[in-house]
Amino acid sequence: MSIDAEEFLIPSFLNLNLKFFSAEKQIRKFRRHKRPLVGTILPLGVELVFAAGAAPIFPLRIGKFEAEKLLRGTRLATNILGSSLVGAGARMLQPQAEGIINQFLTEYNKNLCEYENKADEFNYYPESCFATRIAYGSSLPYRDLIKLFLAWGTRCGWFSQFYAALNDSIPIAFTDIPNSMAPHAREFMYEEVSQLINRLEQLTGNRITDESLREKILLANDIRKCYREIIYYIKTPNEMPLSPYAYMQLIALLSISFVDFLSVIKYFRKNLVKLVQELNNRRNIDYSGVPKLLIVPVFSGSEPDLPQIIRDLGGCLLQVDYLSYGMLEPIKTEGDIIRNYCDYLLKSHNAWKDNKTIVTSWLKTAQELKVDGIIFNKLIGCTSITPAYRLFKDRVQATGIPFIDIDFNRIGENLAQLKNKLASFIELIKKD
Ligand code: SF4
Repeated sequence: MSIDAEEFLIPSFLNLNLKFFSAEKQIRKFRRHKRPLVGTILPLGVELVFAAGAAPIFPLRIGKFEAEKLLRGTRLATNILGSSLVGAGARMLQPQAEGIINQFLTEYNKNLCEYENKADEFNYYPESCFATRIAYGSSLPYRDLIKLFLAWGTRCGWFSQFYAALNDSIPIAFTDIPNSMAPHAREFMYEEVSQLINRLEQLTGNRITDESLREKILLANDIRKCYREIIYYIKTPNEMPLSPYAYMQLIALLSISFVDFLSVIKYFRKNLVKLVQELNNRRNIDYSGVPKLLIVPVFSGSEPDLPQIIRDLGGCLLQVDYLSYGMLEPIKTEGDIIRNYCDYLLKSHNAWKDNKTIVTSWLKTAQELKVDGIIFNKLIGCTSITPAYRLFKDRVQATGIPFIDIDFNRIGENLAQLKNKLASFIELIKKD
């Protein structure tokens, strides 16, 4: 499958990549402007952080990236040439574009490996899952910079242990999310969120007004809408806007960037809106014969080489957990804005609150996106979601959608075996 370098030179796509890689520079700027950094590993509560005038940061985004230099050069060139001349620019800039293509996930993955090693160095529980190991390994080195960490009480026990361990070095703001939408649960959620608001206000000295929160939620809703629209392109596979590889890169970029909105919500929204406009004008790639594979669960981690492997095997990988868990649904902006925010938190947690529910959420996504196959990502050490495997397998088999499971523990482990397994799976789908 050839790579079309031009599609990586869409200015808004480049801007998002560039911002993704610039966390260190952003942090220096936030410090100059005295905006406290608030760490987060889940895409929850970010609008509140912005409304308080603090800066959210997903620690996995921090690091030194070679790609930033390449991207900067390329963006400057496209600016000079003008967006209407990006096509001509693309030919001149092909070497950089290919460098970016090859480096985006490679470099991010390199960072993940380092954070995994750091977790070992910091003696974090070796028996824990990948997600909390890298969360710990990536957060602790920045304990002097991050002033507060958002911690959520969910169904996952390892998350709670991670927050407890982190609290020895970085103060956490713990917010419990109940497993119910009943009136008393909604009331409890309201109290929890009110406490979080107080904590953020104390940190920044700014009040979170209804208006400031509404403004951030409106921006975030636009982001969610664009993100959904990009995922939903796959519903019309005869008119996709990007080649499968570029599309997988974009989906990967969005899933990581969605955690902290790249620490600049307005910029993220502006470029994502522009990107969707540009993609809508490019919808002419036919994916017939390209198997669409849904992988679940992924927000706790997966083998980072998977998009590359699937691309080499001629497929397209869909990592869309946030869609399954309702996190891309808009938040109501009329009426009591804090209560609306609470309802959003409750609804998204309630979409994965127990194994029966999470299985239904995944299956709904698979059917909605009309995927050709499902990959179950068995996270070793996961005591919360991975046990849904058996039930999910049975439910998928009843639908007739081809299904396979793969194990994931550490980056790069058993890659050859993984490739062979996926190659046979894709062959099987193609023959059907
Ligand atoms: S859901 Fe599983 S993989 Fe994710 S943090 Fe919890 S235990 Fe780890």
